Amino acid sequence: MPTFKKPFLAVLVVLPALATPADAPPRIPGFDPTALDRSVAACTDFYRFACGNWLARNPVPADRARWGRFDELAERNQMALRSILDRVSADDPRRDAIDQKIGDQYAACMDEAAIEAKGVGALKAELDRVAALGSKADLAAELARLHRGGVNAAFRFGSQPDFKDANSVIAVTDQAGLGLPDRDYYLKDDAKSADLRAKYLAHVQKMLELSGEPVEKAASDARAVMDLETSLARASLERVKRRDPANIYHKMKVADLQALTPGFDWKAYLAAAGGPPVTDLNVTVPDFFKALDAQMGSAPLETWKAYLRWHLLHENAGLLPAAFVNEDFGFFGKTLTGAKELRPRWKRCVAAVDNEMGEALGRRYVEATFGAEGKARTSKMVAALESALEQDIKTLPWMTEATKVQALGKLKAIANKIGYPDKWRDYSSLRIARGDALGNKLRAEAFEVRRDLEKIGKALDRSEWSMSPPTVNAYYNPLQNNINFPAGILQSPFYNVKTDRGVNYGGAGAVIGHELTHGFDDQGRQFDARGNLKDWWTPADAKAFVERAQCFVDEYSQFTAIGDVKVNGKLTLGENVADNGGLRISLMAYVATLVAGPSKSLDGFTPEQRVFLGWGQVWCENRRPEALRLMAQTNPHSPGRYRVNGVVSNMPEFQKAFSCKADAPMVRQNQCRVW
Ligand SMILES: [Zn+2]
Repeated sequence: MPTFKKPFLAVLVVLPALATPADAPPRIPGFDPTALDRSVAACTDFYRFACGNWLARNPVPADRARWGRFDELAERNQMALRSILDRVSADDPRRDAIDQKIGDQYAACMDEAAIEAKGVGALKAELDRVAALGSKADLAAELARLHRGGVNAAFRFGSQPDFKDANSVIAVTDQAGLGLPDRDYYLKDDAKSADLRAKYLAHVQKMLELSGEPVEKAASDARAVMDLETSLARASLERVKRRDPANIYHKMKVADLQALTPGFDWKAYLAAAGGPPVTDLNVTVPDFFKALDAQMGSAPLETWKAYLRWHLLHENAGLLPAAFVNEDFGFFGKTLTGAKELRPRWKRCVAAVDNEMGEALGRRYVEATFGAEGKARTSKMVAALESALEQDIKTLPWMTEATKVQALGKLKAIANKIGYPDKWRDYSSLRIARGDALGNKLRAEAFEVRRDLEKIGKALDRSEWSMSPPTVNAYYNPLQNNINFPAGILQSPFYNVKTDRGVNYGGAGAVIGHELTHGFDDQGRQFDARGNLKDWWTPADAKAFVERAQCFVDEYSQFTAIGDVKVNGKLTLGENVADNGGLRISLMAYVATLVAGPSKSLDGFTPEQRVFLGWGQVWCENRRPEALRLMAQTNPHSPGRYRVNGVVSNMPEFQKAFSCKADAPMVRQNQCRVW
């Protein structure tokens, strides 16, 4: 239910007076000495040293694919959201408009009896419309209607800053429409991929059966869906190639797109999509649209109808009766991620409200948990990190003055957004009714699509957020040149008022450094201070960057994700550059604070050691084998173990802090460094 769109090119504190329910998980310490495994030397395997005992006593819960310290915090945030939603979900006329909307959608989502009683009839209007399609000429308008309901079919249409003129927002159309998580799942011929495809095929068939199709028809429809998705997968651009913005920027007139895809009626699509008039748009991957056009011509109308039915059911499975929920979990939870049990209903409903009305629920969350003090504290830390990055750039041995001036100009222009938006999203036009969970979701999706499309032709609003305030995550947006830290992450273990500065610099400090460094990673460096895709590098400095970045590609490509699957060093390059730069500048910022007065050792660790321990313990995590495989194929981040060991082994500062011998495993012979 992706109402909060993933940041297009982006990535990746203390709870004062949190309303704590009686059964809330325990408070999370900043640094946890009992998490250490002292049987392993820090210089041998720092991740195991920092996290070993935590890993041993924190197996992945049955309803999870991963359990890490991020998740401990996310779980706490979820409890806080639940207490808000429990309070406002009673049908009380005294509630204000915000509480009515989030409360009634939560109540509707929790009302399993009403959902069972409606059955698949909750989607009747949508399914009937698909069934009534009389010819392929009707597909364009129907796709627009389905897109309004958040259904991932055929392609994606929305708005985006123009890469070459980031201040103006244009329309964008992008490859999409696959049920599996990546094109490679359709195309790889190893045994595991073939097995996953067989299970996916069975899942599509079962979902169609549940919607009322006879077994034989559902089986042949599922095969047709698989063939159609496979041809879309084949035409989709690979994840690694999508990291280069030039590969996904092809601005053209609507007439040019129409000429490229003569079999698809864009005029009808745009009219039904309901946005402002569109003249130019970014067709991210023209070859994908050529292939889509070919499928529009060759695949029978019945195949297209089956494909749309499947995606309608798939998108909405969570709010359909239990048979759909369980079938969906069986494939997308159990098979793909290794989770053993469905998450409790209340957790799924809290997540749904966060997805659908993130800034309404988030507003209440911020009121309950995030004060001015949290914002001031974070701002101070951001300023310290920016000043460290400035020093770092000024003293880089490999960059010439001309490019340094540009880099420093870009750094100065980065805007900092902390906690929550200055201006809350106005949901007043969104109607939410008790007892209508699915209708509410469809209306919330339509609200979000309309909001997104209305930006076309306008100036870019840089104050907008693409994560909700309770989210335990952060991002840099290269097209806006800003860093964004939702209130949800500005807490322990990232920042803890009761912990020393060293640990907090290893946690929140390094995360801030990470986001700042994204402005200068393999993607970010291609955008200028105003967010425009514009080369500000001298050719020699660009060459030096690429050579230094290749060192990270080679380093991380050697790491094993699981079994015979390696980490993809090219896919994870931006995150690895950000991790390495982020911890270095955070350590620099921390050392600068020691001028005011040296810190003492605590728990037997020096101040510098505690920065590294802060970083190490943020990434303690257990993942199921299935989840590690999925991650290696689709996630631009490296597993926690390598976010720790991959970084510290590049740092002479680490070797010094822990007095590691030159040949220790945590001291790489060929240490990589960009920033
Ligand atoms: Zn990141």
